[in-house]
This record gives sequence, structure tokens and C-alpha cells, in this order.
Amino acid sequence: MSKVIVTADLCKQCGYCERHCPKEAISFSSDFNANGFKYAVVDDDKCIACGMCYTTCPDGVFEITQ
Ligand code: SF4
Ligand code: SF4
Repeated sequence: MSKVIVTADLCKQCGYCERHCPKEAISFSSDFNANGFKYAVVDDDKCIACGMCYTTCPDGVFEITQ
């Protein structure tokens, strides 16, 4: 299972998570979510499950699984 679950349709592409991730594990999709935003994507190989994205996101996009 991925370390972080992303609920893509909640993302509004504000970029907070990308700026705060200590491992530069977050990028944005090339396609669009239901609201017309590119959404956060986590590279599981880089992610250390620190929880910073969960803490930073104002829209509850992230769930940490471990
Ligand atoms: S849990 Fe930490 S390392 Fe993983 S994507 Fe979120 S901020 Fe980055
Ligand atoms: S902080 Fe949340 S809403 Fe903002 S870009 Fe990241 S996942 Fe999307």
C-alpha cells in the first residue's frame, strides 16, 4: 500500500504541500480532477511518511497510512 493516500478531487492546486514536503516527493498531475485542477501526486519511493503534507494541506487531501 502507498504511504500516503491522495483524494485527488479535493485538491485545489495551492502548492502548499509541494513546498513543504522535505523529500520533494510531491508533484502535480498532467490531467485534471473533477474541479478542473491539477492534483498532488506522491512519489512513494521518495516519501518517508513524515505527515507534513497531511498537516499542511488545508483541504484534507492526504491520509497517511503508516
Ligand atoms: S508524508 Fe512527508 S515525505 Fe511523504 S509526501 Fe507527505 S510531506 Fe512528503
Ligand atoms: S496542499 Fe492540498 S489542496 Fe494544496 S496543492 Fe497540496 S494537496 Fe492540493
